[in-house]
Amino acid sequence: MRTLVFATGNKHKAEEVQDFLGKGFALSCLKDVGITEDIPETADTLEGNALQKAKYVYDKTGKSCFADDTGLEVDALNGAPGVYTARYAGESCSSEDNINLLLKNLENVKNRTARFRTVIAYIDNNGSVHYFDGIAEGSIIQERCGIQGFGYDPIFMPKGYDKTFAQLPLSEKNKISHRALAMQKFISFLKDEK
Ligand code: IMP
Repeated sequence: MRTLVFATGNKHKAEEVQDFLGKGFALSCLKDVGITEDIPETADTLEGNALQKAKYVYDKTGKSCFADDTGLEVDALNGAPGVYTARYAGESCSSEDNINLLLKNLENVKNRTARFRTVIAYIDNNGSVHYFDGIAEGSIIQERCGIQGFGYDPIFMPKGYDKTFAQLPLSEKNKISHRALAMQKFISFLKDEK
């Protein structure tokens, strides 16, 4: 069994990722490797933030590890909120605040196409960096629909569907989501690695 460190403090995310990885991999998260402080995320790209988090853990522990970063890119807003997706409405804002601000900024806007993009940065045993990305294309609807999921799920409708991420069962979302697609690429890389 291979152990990998996932640079996240988010238990929900760690469980989701462990589920993707299956039984061949044991996941450690930040707490398991003695990191309790917040890791800085100050880069201006998703790649930069994912690498910053993975490198922080690698430098502290010397263990092979990975980190992810996700952004929602709205075409009519020139790719915003992008790297600011989690804190679009301010540093300590809630998902409710973020959704409200996004809907306000898209008032009377016809082109509502958008995508979620996840980037995974993986630092292997030799210290080499590898990136994997996953994109879920879709659009921002006019008002919230659905109660499942988290973040912007109630206003994001994936392309080809008539339901938002918040209306889809998690098992369905996990087949098409940005994070799932990035994880699939990452996992097939790990399986070929050795
Ligand atoms: P993170 O990099 O995974 O922490 O994601 C940054 C932000 O993107 C989160 O705080 C959420 O607001 C949003 N986000 C990421 N993934 C999803 C998703 O699957 N659905 C809805 N919002 C998401």
